[in-house]
Amino acid sequence: MSTVKDQIATAVDHLGDELESLSRRIHDNPELGYQEVKAAGWLTEFLAGQGFKVERGVGGVETAFRATIETGDGPSIAILCEYDALPAIGHACGHNVIATAGVGAGAGLAAVRDKLPKGRIHVIGTPAEEGGGGKVRLIRGGVFTGVDAAMMVHGWDRWVPHQDLLGVVRVGFEFTGKAAHASADPWEGINALDGVIQTFNNVSMLRQQVRPDARVHGIVTSGGAAPNIIPEFAAATFYVRAASLEYLAQLQKRVIACAEGAAKATGSTLKVIEYDNTYEPMKRNQTLADAFRVNMRRVGVTESPEIKERLGSSDVGNVSQVLPTIQPYVKIAPDGTPWHSRAFEEAAVSPLAREGLLAAAKVMAMTTLDLLDDPDLLARAKQEFRAAP
Ligand SMILES: [Zn+2]
Ligand SMILES: [Zn+2]
Repeated sequence: MSTVKDQIATAVDHLGDELESLSRRIHDNPELGYQEVKAAGWLTEFLAGQGFKVERGVGGVETAFRATIETGDGPSIAILCEYDALPAIGHACGHNVIATAGVGAGAGLAAVRDKLPKGRIHVIGTPAEEGGGGKVRLIRGGVFTGVDAAMMVHGWDRWVPHQDLLGVVRVGFEFTGKAAHASADPWEGINALDGVIQTFNNVSMLRQQVRPDARVHGIVTSGGAAPNIIPEFAAATFYVRAASLEYLAQLQKRVIACAEGAAKATGSTLKVIEYDNTYEPMKRNQTLADAFRVNMRRVGVTESPEIKERLGSSDVGNVSQVLPTIQPYVKIAPDGTPWHSRAFEEAAVSPLAREGLLAAAKVMAMTTLDLLDDPDLLARAKQEFRAAP
């Protein structure tokens, strides 16, 4: 098998300039979630050129795609791409690297197609990670049905095979009161803004009682019309994050109770708005992470330890709750570069990003090969998935 892995590495290196220019093109044409028309077009064009059978608009999502190579009856392994950008700061999350590492891995496998064990390789394009929950829609749309294991990478300032991700749920609060002159007739009014302010106060008290890895953070989205009118309407949106689905649900209830108490205290009427695209916590799959790690060593990258306090969220968490999934981190930026910063946006097309993207493409392709080649490895990943809470 070692020779096939060498051939994968050589194939990815041969495509280095093409992958880098594809990455730069996506980077320099940032598109927001569900509007990634150009990126999806370029990525599918590239994959079709490598011999993949391409389906566009899968799962009812226009900018999603699934590209497949099939070598016979066997396991299905998915490599995931993201390619949405952020408002105002473009590709400051480096999704251009995720996308091109994904299609690069696919190309590396396509190059050794004749030597691949039987099975199916999917490169799946998953739009709108930054808040839009593209993977949630693709799961519901059946795009992951029949997939045995999935992997993707994300850019960072270090290589880490596994990092926890918190689940996150959004909840909105709308308070309705009664307008009145704030000086002449304040006792005739019901102050909806007080409902919002009291909610924040209640949440601040709740914060002392929550687990250290939970996060609750909100903004006021509407706070009244003028100081001389008792606000008749006010609203806030909160994100609630936790490391387990169970605790996420508990904490969400308690945050809602904070708003209910505030409504009661102020006499305003509360409408709770629950959004249905919860991002679920990342379910660890050590078997897959270890397989990835072995190939990381093979391509000569150095691993960093997990970091327990820099915790984000992603809809890949939802995928990890339905099938064995990993999202290792790849060094594409200098040490200490924060995500969602101008510096990260610049780093995402640096020579370091090229290095990371090519190494990640090789490691994902090699790990996919291992999963197709070693039924025991896949069986252990599935067993671990079933056994984990
Ligand atoms: Zn991001
Ligand atoms: Zn991201």
